[in-house]
Amino acid sequence: MAENDRIVLALETRLSELRGRIAGIDDELRKPLSADSEEQATDLENQDALGGVEAAVLHEIGQIEEALKRIAEGSYGICTQCGEDIAPKRLEALPTATRCIQCAA
Ligand SMILES: [Zn+2]
Repeated sequence: MAENDRIVLALETRLSELRGRIAGIDDELRKPLSADSEEQATDLENQDALGGVEAAVLHEIGQIEEALKRIAEGSYGICTQCGEDIAPKRLEALPTATRCIQCAA
């Protein structure tokens, strides 16, 4: 159980970090476009790039929330495919892993 506490802490730390990034990206996306049309094009490109970053961050947030849910349910660390335990080393490297190394390969 103490082992999971450590993982929960790490996941929650990462989660608040990611939520902070989303807030920053949202602020950036809400900024009004430049008046100059050339600068506007750059703004739009930046917004596109930020949108991509935001999607990736949101994806990771989803994975972390899923992992926290599995910890709460007691199914954390069990391969969703074959039902075997996921190696602790794998979870350490990838705390959001839902499948063991064999099934993920
Ligand atoms: Zn498996």
